[in-house]
Amino acid sequence: MSRYPHTIHPTETSIQIIQFQSGPMQNLQYLIVDPVSKTMAVVDPAWNIAPIIDFSTEFNVAITQIWVTHGHFDHVNQLNNLINAVNGTPTIVLFKTPLFTPASPHILSVDDGSSFEFGNTQWKVLHTPGHSPDSVCLQHASHLICGDLLFVDACGRSDLPGSNPVEMKNSLYRLSQLPKDTVIYPGHDYGPTQTDTIGNQLETNPNLIFSHRRSSVTLG
Ligand SMILES: [Zn+2]
Repeated sequence: MSRYPHTIHPTETSIQIIQFQSGPMQNLQYLIVDPVSKTMAVVDPAWNIAPIIDFSTEFNVAITQIWVTHGHFDHVNQLNNLINAVNGTPTIVLFKTPLFTPASPHILSVDDGSSFEFGNTQWKVLHTPGHSPDSVCLQHASHLICGDLLFVDACGRSDLPGSNPVEMKNSLYRLSQLPKDTVIYPGHDYGPTQTDTIGNQLETNPNLIFSHRRSSVTLG
């Protein structure tokens, strides 16, 4: 990994979130690393798995889980290759009715409100459809992996097959209600920065501002 540009984000716990860009669509990938157990989860393996394998080898960290924010091609096109490249049998964490079915018998189906363990940490699942029906956000303490729901100063498309603009607004509204210090980790590097907080996005992201105000009015 040291050969590839990346950013290390610490969290309140031992977990570190390593962020790097991959592929022609500015996808952001994440390694969720637990230095205590020397294990990691990979989020949305696509385009180029060399940095992932490099990190695992360089720091002797085992890939025990692979998380899928949603099944679009640009997020999962290397998932089966990564499964084959890993020593052992990583658990694939994805929504209960996925768009994409990995070639693995070790699948953990998740749904809204469920949680799962990684190392000694708990991750909460938010089902957040709109961009796609199988989109999930994954939350740990004040950190939120948000796939293609929310980007820095933008949001995912809601005009694709399987998209639903009404669900998109509802999902964005849901994120607007999270604590303002929540840090977002989006699925694409389309903004001026690679991460931001919900509080800042409520100042600068028209999509989040609109969903927040619109739903507030609707709720009276
Ligand atoms: Zn997508």
